[in-house]
Amino acid sequence: MGHKFLKSGSTAEAANTPRVDVSAIVKGVIDEIRLTGDDAVRKYSKKFDKWAPQSFKLTQEETLAAIAACPKQTIDDIKQVQSNVKAFAAAQRNSIRDFELEIRPGVFLGQKNVPIDCVGAYIPGGRYPLLASAHMTILTAKVAGVRHVVGCTPPIAGKIPNATVAAMHLAGADEIFILGGVQAVAAMAIGTQTIRKVDFIAGPGNAFVAEGKRQLFGEIGIDLFAGPTEILLVADETADPFTIATDILSQAEHGPDSPAVIITTSEAVGRKSIEIIDELLKNLSTGVTAGASWNAFGEVIVVDSLAEAWKLADEYASEHVQVFTKRPRDALENMSAYGALFLGEKTCVSYGDKVIGTNHVLPTRKAARYTGGLWAGKFLRTVTYQEVKSSEASGELGRLCGRAARAENFEGHARSGDLRAQKYLSDKVAW
Ligand code: NAD
Repeated sequence: MGHKFLKSGSTAEAANTPRVDVSAIVKGVIDEIRLTGDDAVRKYSKKFDKWAPQSFKLTQEETLAAIAACPKQTIDDIKQVQSNVKAFAAAQRNSIRDFELEIRPGVFLGQKNVPIDCVGAYIPGGRYPLLASAHMTILTAKVAGVRHVVGCTPPIAGKIPNATVAAMHLAGADEIFILGGVQAVAAMAIGTQTIRKVDFIAGPGNAFVAEGKRQLFGEIGIDLFAGPTEILLVADETADPFTIATDILSQAEHGPDSPAVIITTSEAVGRKSIEIIDELLKNLSTGVTAGASWNAFGEVIVVDSLAEAWKLADEYASEHVQVFTKRPRDALENMSAYGALFLGEKTCVSYGDKVIGTNHVLPTRKAARYTGGLWAGKFLRTVTYQEVKSSEASGELGRLCGRAARAENFEGHARSGDLRAQKYLSDKVAW
């Protein structure tokens, strides 16, 4: 077993360690929003986005005007994609069961899944209008049954991003704010004079957004760390280097900090892919960003066997994993750490990002070791209930509880048990 690098780059962790002190900047914004609310929101929106309208919240007329400004084809496409996302999200929601179990005669334990009441959805858009994120966050929350969804998205070049607003509205957003970055996340988490406090924030974003959610976690719930995008591609000798190169660049263009890794059993495929990536970068309109990402964080690794490829790929725990091998479904048995798997050459991450219907808000920075991506279940609180209907069962539990609680020196707990044992089994109580 062994592997060698045909191209090495900084690690995904390094890609996620920006060159400015993101944590300090984010803390400063959050602290100030805590103190002055809307004033601080306005100050930072002006500073980071040159955006300080009279109101960040869109009126119904502004929302409808944004939709009217979109080409009909854009609206039709949004509807088609949203029907895919909705169907998959609904199937996921229906896979979660409420149940009640009679664990012993007369003792009933139950589980219910209750939607979170109020959710903030962050739809990124500093660089590009990521309208697909509206389907992924807002629509999924609505499918889960969330009552109120506040959507925030930044302006693009000082303008309202019409298509994103259309997607947010069609997904079912109850309120839409044109507000970006940590100022949006903090305003929703803390609540201001004009922005309601939410219970939970979902959605991807750049390093500032991800860090904002991290710092505010606890005060609100969050979905996951969905930071700068990552791709890892496992290829054997049957893979087409042109398709590999094309798909690698589809993710590298997300931002200058998007790690892209090829793990292949074929040195020839690896070398050819590097050659084609360099060639394609020359005429890609987003080539500057994609090239910056690829040059700094791109890696090509040759391994001796697919067994080694699966193992190494799991260590990366990448957000997206594409599999171009003879039997792509082998990855399902051999890998476990990924946000989403894309099996075979007919499938690609771009489908997942934009149209296919699975959720594109996925774990980055190795968070795939402990979580999957956003789904209807993230918007539900799994709560439990219990009822003891049998007197005898209650008395027996009371005896057990008395002993168990005293083993921990919890006299108060023990007495709750003793009392039932006395009431229902006529036990003598010593206190
Ligand atoms: P964004 O909306 O996440 O961030 C834009 C905001 O960043 C701006 O509104 C601005 O307020 C703030 N900002 C920019 N520079 C700043 C600075 N120096 N200090 C403080 N705030 C600053 O949009 P984006 O930048 O285009 O990034 C979108 C990100 O979302 C990309 O990195 C992409 O890879 C990622 N993404 C991830 C997933 C996922 O599931 N992991 C999915 C989609 C997108």
